[in-house]
Amino acid sequence: MISVPEPTQTRKPIIAQNNHLITCSNCGNDSDFFEVADGVILTSRYIQNNDGSFVQDGDESQILGEVRLFCAECNHDLTAHHQRFVEMLF
Ligand SMILES: [Zn+2]
Repeated sequence: MISVPEPTQTRKPIIAQNNHLITCSNCGNDSDFFEVADGVILTSRYIQNNDGSFVQDGDESQILGEVRLFCAECNHDLTAHHQRFVEMLF
């Protein structure tokens, strides 16, 4: 997988995926989406420097609630597609 793929090889799977695009059943949008997570705890670790300034050293977030997917055009609930959304997230 180190060799550079030819353009035709990279294009083929993308065309195949077009048949399986997540599309809003309400407005037909297939490009813009919101992911909303409930009950998120954001934890950030900071280190204080000698001059009193801080630098962020770590970032850990924890999702306690449900994660939902919405159409960014009409806010239609697309959570039924969320599993596929996660699988296609790169
Ligand atoms: Zn929509």
